[in-house]
Amino acid sequence: MKTPLVRLEALAKSYASVPAVHPLDLEFDTGDFLAILGPSGCGKTTLLKMLGGFVPPTSGRILIGGEDVTHLPPERRPTNMVFQGYGLFPHMTVRQNIAYGPRIAGEDKALLARRVDDMLALVRLTEFGDQYPGALSGGQQQRVALARALMMRPKVLLLDEPFAALDLKLRQAMQEELRTIHKNIGGTFVFVTHDQAEAMALASKVVVMSKGRVEQVGSGEEIYRRPKTRFVSQFVGEANFFAAERKNNRVSIPGAFTFEDHGPDCPVQVGVRPERVLLGARTKQSAHSFDARIIDRLFLGAQVQYRVALPDGVTFLATTPEGALQIGETTSVGWSAEDQWVVQA
Ligand code: ATP
Repeated sequence: MKTPLVRLEALAKSYASVPAVHPLDLEFDTGDFLAILGPSGCGKTTLLKMLGGFVPPTSGRILIGGEDVTHLPPERRPTNMVFQGYGLFPHMTVRQNIAYGPRIAGEDKALLARRVDDMLALVRLTEFGDQYPGALSGGQQQRVALARALMMRPKVLLLDEPFAALDLKLRQAMQEELRTIHKNIGGTFVFVTHDQAEAMALASKVVVMSKGRVEQVGSGEEIYRRPKTRFVSQFVGEANFFAAERKNNRVSIPGAFTFEDHGPDCPVQVGVRPERVLLGARTKQSAHSFDARIIDRLFLGAQVQYRVALPDGVTFLATTPEGALQIGETTSVGWSAEDQWVVQA
């Protein structure tokens, strides 16, 4: 079997015996664009810093390209990290900042100058080479930090909340740019974010963390469409849940419907995203439909969000581009079987 580029084995970190990252196993490969996604304090930055050699693990191992790097300092690892504050040298020009690492490593001057030119072009900063970081915008400084890290040709580039300091528009532009750079150079990128939309927009693989543990690893689509836990369901988007029971591999929502689902006999929750809930005539496409009443209507621009009540008083959300239904109206609601998922109650 092929060795993965990075393998984490039972990697864990406690600060003064308080666990920040519980023992976790994770593998990823050359070309992967990995997002470590989770709420504040879940251990994402600790995990990234262990990868980069900035935080020593309490236990476990880190293998990169088959080599055990667990106890190597940052500069001896095939990784490079872009920190949140960018960490640029204010007294050096953009060119000098970008050239810094390879210059210290003794790289040939002419070759280095050419590489800096190429790198400036890659991050679209050619005309800013002689400026000082203080004269650049946040997005430009971010690109210098990225260029400086990429100059070291790391096998794994680590980015800690790379766009946290940027406003929404610039953030989106930088996401697009980072994706293009990743495509052009084909390396392995790992970034930390608490923004699920950013993780889904950028990453080929998303690692969802909660309270120091990995909840799920998968593509953005997998974690959105098939979340494995209630936490993941709600962290990556809006979710409606219906209390249900699984028995003999069949799940039943009391008074509603049953369907096949393999797993142990226990109380479960059936999830469905508001935008997958069908209303009115559209319920013809759904596996099940119920009578319901509109109890609230919120105009959101591109969509209208309805709160819908079932006869037993259970309420849930439905969003749709059409907004003809009004508060008090009765209608039918439903969804396709492929749009529902089951998690432990
Ligand atoms: P954020 O998004 O807020 O940066 P995070 O998910 O990156 O959060 P970490 O910074 O890895 O989380 O922190 C995980 C836990 O470890 C938190 O409870 C934090 O308080 C604790 N922690 C992190 N660094 C240290 C430290 N140097 N000393 C003691 N505790 C720490």
